[in-house]
Order: sequence, then structure tokens, then C-alpha cells
Amino acid sequence: MSHFHVVIIGGGGTGGALAHDLTLRGLKVTLVERGEVTSGTTGRHHGLLHSGARYAVKDKESAIECIEENTILRRIAPGTFEENDGLFVAVTDEDVAYSHSFIEGCGDCGIPAQRLTKEEALRLEPNLSEKTIMAVRIPDATMDAMRMPLRFFATAKKNGASVKPYTEVREILRQGNTVTGVKVVDHTSEKSYEIGADLVVNAAGPWCGKIADMVGVEVPIRPSPGVMVAVRGRWCNMVINRLNTSSDGDIVVPQRGLSVIGTSSWVVDDPDKLGLPSDHIQAMYDHGALMLPAIKDAPMRAAWSAARPLIGPRKADADTGRELSRTFKCFDHIDEGVEGFVTITGGKATTLRGMAEAAANVVCQKLGVDEPCRTRDVVLLPYTAYYA
Ligand SMILES: Cc1cc2nc3c(=O)[nH]c(=O)nc-3n(C[C@H](O)[C@H](O)[C@H](O)COP(=O)(O)OP(=O)(O)OC[C@H]3O[C@@H](n4cnc5c(N)ncnc54)[C@H](O)[C@@H]3O)c2cc1C
Repeated sequence: MSHFHVVIIGGGGTGGALAHDLTLRGLKVTLVERGEVTSGTTGRHHGLLHSGARYAVKDKESAIECIEENTILRRIAPGTFEENDGLFVAVTDEDVAYSHSFIEGCGDCGIPAQRLTKEEALRLEPNLSEKTIMAVRIPDATMDAMRMPLRFFATAKKNGASVKPYTEVREILRQGNTVTGVKVVDHTSEKSYEIGADLVVNAAGPWCGKIADMVGVEVPIRPSPGVMVAVRGRWCNMVINRLNTSSDGDIVVPQRGLSVIGTSSWVVDDPDKLGLPSDHIQAMYDHGALMLPAIKDAPMRAAWSAARPLIGPRKADADTGRELSRTFKCFDHIDEGVEGFVTITGGKATTLRGMAEAAANVVCQKLGVDEPCRTRDVVLLPYTAYYA
């Protein structure tokens, strides 16, 4: 074991995967999360293990990250995913025209893509619209948004990581220009205390700008919310996507006996103030029903919003967030004169392990720890071990 102690701020998938990576490399790790683990964006997404096809035309870097991590996660987290694949479905001539650059983009990114006729698509998914013209089959999958990352937390805990839910960072401690730890409040007792660290990692997802503000450094983060609607009835068994550029209601993910339709996109300054616009809920119904008409009359089980941590200039307000890449980035704030403080942000739930590897490489290089990443091969404990 190295004697170095790393504090991770944020108990989403990214923080959990980083705790797993660093403990495997022999570091002492404490992870602090202001709510329950996965209570941020991680526990609120569709539950789609991306193949990367959604990004294969306009965001190839993210598409390649997704297909690589999609393959690794199936290996290290067996039993976590429904091996259901996905269909990108064309219901207009414009969608068919897009299919050419789509299939070419998938090829460029190493994503297997199989063109299907209308009849082949309807044989796989009988509830598809009669307006379906053709479809493309790709290796998407369904996962449980909370249980998949919990496997990282469970394994990290088993290997010695200390995971502290309901522990909110209120201050980053510094000596001169060096970060030395965090001051937290324990929400179960409302008591404050300090945790010393050799290095602090900001893995606070869409909140990472707020954490960076505590240190006076800049993270180019754009919290970008989206609305999702779960309707009663499992109207598809595969993940159904609209075969066109990203837009409202163009993904339907089967989750147990429900179908989750997503998502809209806008940008906010404060990830704690998202709201749930009713016209977005209606848009999920309207656009989802273009691919699966039964959705139109399906009773709503729930509607909610969550904010993506997207990398882009803070406080620009002329966009919707759709134009921003879904790739991830690790920032060593020594570039702004602050030592001992690193931020990892952006990405997808699908790329949590790759994000953790990138951040752990920076952490180990800064601390002089010469241990390789092993998370590509170590099989994770079941999620139930987190509570054991
Ligand atoms: C609408 C929508 C749909 C999506 N669908 C998918 C999908 O289907 N598949 C996919 O792969 N990705 C999807 N994503 C993206 C994915 O959900 C996110 O990229 C991912 O969950 C981010 O994880 P994270 O750990 O970086 O952030 P988070 O999960 O947000 O974790 C950050 C944590 O930091 C904590 N925190 C904040 N401030 C403090 C503090 N002061 N002290 C302590 N803790 C703090 C928060 O409580 C939070 O739990 C979707 C995103 C959205 C918005």
C-alpha cells in the first residue's frame, strides 16, 4: 500500500469507478457524497449502455470511447446488462438519407452496424410504427442506472476505500497554493469536520463547477438537463433510437415492465435548479410515438429531469447543449497555479471506467505512484456486496 491519501468528491459513477481504480493501485481513498451514492445524475439517466452509435456522425471521439467501454463493461460486470442490442429506426425519407452517413460513421468508430429491412425490423420489434422504412442494428444494451455503478463502489469498499454518503464538502482546505483536504458536514449529525488529503479529486459531475469555485479555479462545465418519461408497458425489447441527428424523444429504453423515453436538452447555471417543463414531457410522448405508436396512450409512471456534465464554456446561453461533445476530460489545476487538486468531468455513465482510468493516471503521476491501471480486467463484485 502507498501511504498517499486521496479524497474524491462526488459519489456518482465517476467517483465510484475512480475509488475502485485508485484502491487497486494501492492508494488510500475516502469518497464523500452529499446524498446517497448515485443520487446525482448517475441514478437518474435512461439506463442505456451506449454503443456509441448515437454519436458516430458528429462526435466520433465520444462514440469511440462508448464502444470501447461498452465492450469492457460487459466483460468486467457480467450479469449487469440485458444483451438486447438496439435499433436505429428510419420513419421518414430524411431519416433514410441520414442512414448513409450513420452507417459510415459507425464503421469509422468500430461500431458493428447491420442494415435491416422494414420486415426484418418489425420481426424483431412488432410494435414499431408501420411507417418504419428501414433500421440499423447496433450493440446498445439496457442497464440499471444505479446497480451498475454500485458494483464499482462495492469492489472499492472491499479493497479498503472509505465511502461516506450524506457527507457534503463545504470548503476545500489549502496551505498557500496547495490543497490539503476538505471540510465536510455530516448530514446525519450536522457535525462538521476536516479530512486531510495528499490530493483531492473533484468528481462532482454537473456540480464540479461549484466545487472548483471553492478553490478559485475554472472548469469549463455546462450543466445540461434533459427530461425523461417512464410509461407503463414494455413497448420494445431492444433499445429503440430515431435514425437521425439527436433530438427530443428519440430514445426509448425498455426497463423491466416500463419504457423510458428521453430526452430533451437545455442548459442551466445551477444543477440544483432544473425544473420539469410540461411541454418537454409532451414532446417525449409525441416523438417517442413516432417510432412506437403505442406510447401515445401509455399511462405515465414517472417523469423527471437530470443534468449532464458537459464540457463547454460556462455561462454561454445561446445554445441547447446538443452541440457539445459527450467526451470527458481530466484537468490538473496546477496549470492555474493550484497544486493537489484535479477535476474529472464530462463523459457518459457508459464511460465511467475510462474516465476513472484517465483521472487515476493523472493522480498517480502527480503522487509518483508507479502502478498500472487494472480495471479493464478485474471482474467487479455484485452490487449487493455494497450493502453487505
Ligand atoms: C437526461 C440524461 C440522460 C442520460 N442518459 C444516459 C444513458 O442512458 N446512458 C449513459 O451512459 N449516460 C447517460 N447520461 C449521462 C450520465 O448520466 C452522466 O454522464 C453520468 O451519470 C455522470 O456521472 P458523474 O459521476 O460524473 O456525475 P453525478 O452522478 O452527478 O455525480 C456527482 C455527485 O457529486 C455529488 N456532489 C455535488 N456536490 C457535492 C458536494 N459539495 N459534496 C459532496 N458531494 C457532492 C452529487 O450529489 C452527485 O451525486 C444521461 C444524462 C442525462 C442528463
